[in-house]
Amino acid sequence: MKHFAKKKFGQNFLKDISIIHAIIKSINPLPDDLLIEIGPGLGALTKPLLKKTNHLLSIEIDHDIVSWMKNEYSQKSITIFNEDVLNFNFHQFDQKIRIVGNLPYNIATPILFKCIDNIKIIKDLHLMLQKEVVDRMIANPSSSEYGRLSVMLQYYFSMEYLIHVPKESFEPEPKVESSFVRLIPYEHYPCIANNLDQFKNIVKEAFSQRRKTIRNTLKSFINENDFEKIGINQQLRAENLSVSDFVKISNYLD
Ligand code: SAM
Repeated sequence: MKHFAKKKFGQNFLKDISIIHAIIKSINPLPDDLLIEIGPGLGALTKPLLKKTNHLLSIEIDHDIVSWMKNEYSQKSITIFNEDVLNFNFHQFDQKIRIVGNLPYNIATPILFKCIDNIKIIKDLHLMLQKEVVDRMIANPSSSEYGRLSVMLQYYFSMEYLIHVPKESFEPEPKVESSFVRLIPYEHYPCIANNLDQFKNIVKEAFSQRRKTIRNTLKSFINENDFEKIGINQQLRAENLSVSDFVKISNYLD
């Protein structure tokens, strides 16, 4: 199809066959998987996925692409949702879902937070993201990439960096490098926050001014004596705390 990539929808289409093979191999789709592709675009991943699975669900915002898909895949077992993924109801299925996608980078972070909100029905995620975002997701405490996204995702998922994808693998070329990553929700969480809303609020507040000490950023939640009781140095910054430190603070307050 003659299609002019739309910047507003983050359209950078994968064209590198060897990268596409590597991606499909690492997803390892099985016939009975409930597989959902976010942003199928012109089918770089959709077509090989359709060869492996009995049925594919795809969520695509672009009407032009959806009209083309309906024609292109008329003989295939695919359900196409012409929707914004951020409004999509993931709770309509009675089986755990596997989510795959070369995501529109402009909304990658809200998509990740939406996945956290739907974690109970997710089996796994295989996502192409801006490399810089993946670096933040898997960053260790006390590194410059470590932030709210790292803590929140590391609380819920075990993550694996799978493939580095250079700019030239796309048409049109994006300005940034990309990475393909796997996220699997923990079956047994390494640490458990008793009050998840509180945990999320504390993490958000602590990173709202990341150069300040937690004594400052968390003063509306916790005082100096409490820090001592928990055994966390109040002179540290949010970026120095591990996921389990944040959980400790949250559970202490609960
Ligand atoms: N999967 C294709 C590939 O690998 O070549 C296309 C990937 S492209 C980076 C992102 C795709 O997501 C585009 O097809 C775009 O139209 C679609 N998209 C953008 N924003 C979306 C949204 N909010 N909801 C669903 N799809 C969206």
